[in-house]
Amino acid sequence: MLEQASTSPEEAAGAATVYERIRSKILRNEIPPDTRLSIDGLAREVGTSPTPIREALRHLQGDNLVVQEPGRGYRSTPLLNQRELRELFEFRLLVEPWATKAAAQDRLSNPTLTLERELDELTELIAAKADVRYDLMDHDIRFHDAIFAAADNEVLHAAYSQRHCHLHAFRMFPNDYNGSYTVAEHRAVLNAIKAHDQEAAEQAMRDHLTAAYLRFERGHKSTDGPPRLPGLHPDRPAHRARLTG
Ligand SMILES: [Zn+2]
Repeated sequence: MLEQASTSPEEAAGAATVYERIRSKILRNEIPPDTRLSIDGLAREVGTSPTPIREALRHLQGDNLVVQEPGRGYRSTPLLNQRELRELFEFRLLVEPWATKAAAQDRLSNPTLTLERELDELTELIAAKADVRYDLMDHDIRFHDAIFAAADNEVLHAAYSQRHCHLHAFRMFPNDYNGSYTVAEHRAVLNAIKAHDQEAAEQAMRDHLTAAYLRFERGHKSTDGPPRLPGLHPDRPAHRARLTG
C-alpha cells in the first residue's frame, strides 16, 4: 500500500511499460518456462530500477505467468501440460459457443463492427509482417473478449478472463504462426454473428475452438499418439484432415 501511494503518474506509466516488456519476453519464450527470474538482472536488461520490476512481477503473477516462491524469488510458470490444455479447452467449449450464440442476437450490443475492425487490422498485419504470432495473440484476446462483452453475462465474462486462456495456450508455439487458420475461422464466426444466425454462430465457435485445440495439442512437445479431443466434444475427422493436409 505504501509503495502504491508513493508512485507518481510517470512511475506508474513506466511500470506499465516494464510489465509489457517482461510479459512479451515470457510470451515469446525469450524467458523460458519454469525459469528463475533475477530482479537485478531484469532491471539491468530493461534499464530501470528494481522497484518497477517488482511491480511488474506482481502484476504478472495475477496473469499466472510468474509465481513467487517463498524466500526464493520469482519464476516463470511452466507451460500447460496436456491435461491442463485439455481442461482449458473443455471449459472454453462449455462457455464460448453459448456466448457466441448470445452475441449473434440482433440487438444493440451485437459486436459485428468491432469484430470486423479486428479482423481487418489482423489481415493487414499478416500482409505486412513476417512474424505475427504476438499480434495474433493480442487479436485473439480482443476478438473473444468482444464476443463475451456482447453476450452480456458478467459472471461468465469474469470466469473466462480469470483463466487467461490465450496467454497460456499461446506460449506453446502453435503451428498457426501466420494466422491463416485463425483468420478463416474467425471470419466464419463473424459472418454468422453479422447475419444474426445464432445456430451458425454457436457452431462456428465450436469448430474454431476444436481446431485451435488440435493446433495447440499438435504443438505440444510431449504429444505422443493422435491428439485427443476435449471430452465434451465428439471427434471431428474433418478438422483433423484439414489440419494435417
Ligand atoms: Zn480465436
